Amino acid sequence: MKLLQDRIRQDGVALNGQVLKVDSFLNHQVDAGLTMEIGKAFAAEFGAQGVTKVLTIEASGIHFALATAVALGVPFVYAKKKKAVTLTEDLYTVPVHSFTRGETFNVSVSKRYLQAEDRVLIVDDFLATGDALLGLQEIVRLSGAHLVGIGAVIEKSFQEGRAKLEATGVKIHSLARIKSMSPEHMEFLEEESL
Ligand code: 5GP
Repeated sequence: MKLLQDRIRQDGVALNGQVLKVDSFLNHQVDAGLTMEIGKAFAAEFGAQGVTKVLTIEASGIHFALATAVALGVPFVYAKKKKAVTLTEDLYTVPVHSFTRGETFNVSVSKRYLQAEDRVLIVDDFLATGDALLGLQEIVRLSGAHLVGIGAVIEKSFQEGRAKLEATGVKIHSLARIKSMSPEHMEFLEEESL
């Protein structure tokens, strides 16, 4: 997605070769217009496949799930990291290791909101080690729903996440695939000219 690649070049900050800071437009302050375009791009890619629900993980996947769900005309569900006192019903719970925080935590989705008849599209902000997306994939598996595919806004293609997810046979669509980066340069796997 050219709009996104251009924005990453302009406003993304590679803290080193591994971590990209995008908090001026994607995951702290949020460019709402760009977010809606991202939702449309995921909907265009997966819309023909009868998606009934979009699934993500709090917090930085939520606005992308919202934008995608609006474009598809379906609800979205986000996996919760903390068990709220109001979350009294049965849950699907899986452990997820966080790349940025260096810790493992449980994420949960109420069994009420993911069912065997659902056709689920998972979306998230980053595909890095793939652990967050593998956790969401496991939740879909536990629910018996059909996983249509995975949409990642930014893929760091130099990390192992895509290979781990592809090994499960799922279709992955990333809107910007970073081949390599440093504070001085940014190279995408597929440079988009349009
Ligand atoms: P994973 O390693 O499981 O694929 O990524 C988990 C989460 O870590 C992503 O959803 C994202 O929130 C965060 N993350 C991973 N890599 C980066 C990065 O380079 N920059 C930022 N800002 N977040 C990241």
